[in-house]
Amino acid sequence: MVSPVEKWVAEQTGLGAQLNPQTLSEWQHHRLKDALQYARQNTVFYANRLEPNKPLNEQPFTLPADLAHSPLAFLAIPQTEVARVTTLAHSGTTSLRKRIFFSEGDLKRTRAFFTVGMSSMVSSGDRVHILISNRTENSLGSLLHDSILSLGATARVFPTIRSVGEAVEAAQWAHCIVGMPAEILYLCRTAPHLHPHSVLLAADIAPPSVVKGIRSTWQCPVYTHHGHTEFGYGFAVDCQHHNGLHTRDAEVIVEVIDPITNLPTEPNELGEIVVTTLTNEAMPLVRYRTGNLTRPVVGPCGCGGTLHRLSGVEGRLWSNITLSNGKTLNIFQLDEAIFSHSAIRGFNATLIRGKSETLRLTIDAIQPVDLAQLKAELSLGIDVTIEPGNADPFRRREKRRITEHLR
Ligand SMILES: [Zn+2]
Repeated sequence: MVSPVEKWVAEQTGLGAQLNPQTLSEWQHHRLKDALQYARQNTVFYANRLEPNKPLNEQPFTLPADLAHSPLAFLAIPQTEVARVTTLAHSGTTSLRKRIFFSEGDLKRTRAFFTVGMSSMVSSGDRVHILISNRTENSLGSLLHDSILSLGATARVFPTIRSVGEAVEAAQWAHCIVGMPAEILYLCRTAPHLHPHSVLLAADIAPPSVVKGIRSTWQCPVYTHHGHTEFGYGFAVDCQHHNGLHTRDAEVIVEVIDPITNLPTEPNELGEIVVTTLTNEAMPLVRYRTGNLTRPVVGPCGCGGTLHRLSGVEGRLWSNITLSNGKTLNIFQLDEAIFSHSAIRGFNATLIRGKSETLRLTIDAIQPVDLAQLKAELSLGIDVTIEPGNADPFRRREKRRITEHLR
């Protein structure tokens, strides 16, 4: 069965059986003109920047810093019509925060996209337990919750969980568990007796070793979703064939560019995800540089889908730390290497910087681990100290990162 996302694109665009990469591209570029016009007429930020008659690759980029510096300059509707505002930390500074606005229509479109994405993994009568976000009105958790109800399934969003013990309790009896990758891996290696029928990893990067670890322990399909609050949370999700994430093509235009040359990357080459919204009412965005790195997947998916697919997010531009020996370090490479050990359920990483660096790892293992071998595998060329300890991610509830300290 073709991915529900592609079926939805066929319906939304009205292209039906005529839908293919070429007709989609023509449809998107026809829509683009209206979207550029809308952004130019209704926002302070884009008023003098866009030229709706020029093609997309001649429009300027929008940076996350632009959004952080003047969020109201992006607001295209009266403040009284804003249905939700979300505040996000802006990477690189602690003081600036991005404010993201949504209209009622934006939230409705998000719920509809979530329903489409969830239909791959949830059937009528299933119980879906959502271990992320919170129950406030229109939060990610509550939008997901509402979208699941329209599939005839039941959904529960749990109050903030503060330990793996609470997470085990919350995950009991779930047919489908939705949560952050490192948290669900920790839960699964702590409670292999749970038997969900499917898992959806969301809200942070899901390294292949985490997906594989959960799949082999719980023996169930593991889906990944890549979302962006800026575009209404929902963005790309895989289908039952797990061969790349199908993107929300009826509502966004996705580009993958080389962050140095700003030109499109070759198929299967790593590049930055750049997104233009076609339907955002409250906050239209044009060529927004996400800083997230992915590869465009070529060839049809096992489901028969032929539209855009992304390999999944493989890192973030701003999360690379350059070491004094010239090598780079980021949390995703550590996650991929360390979580591939089935004995390890969690770890924390701290980089102590001075003339040289020391990486301190606190490893939370359920069985003995060969630490010398683990150090050798990391092959960072810097001091690595490893100590056993508790690394329950439910105590921190944040995206994965390396903590940095000056010596
Ligand atoms: Zn597919």
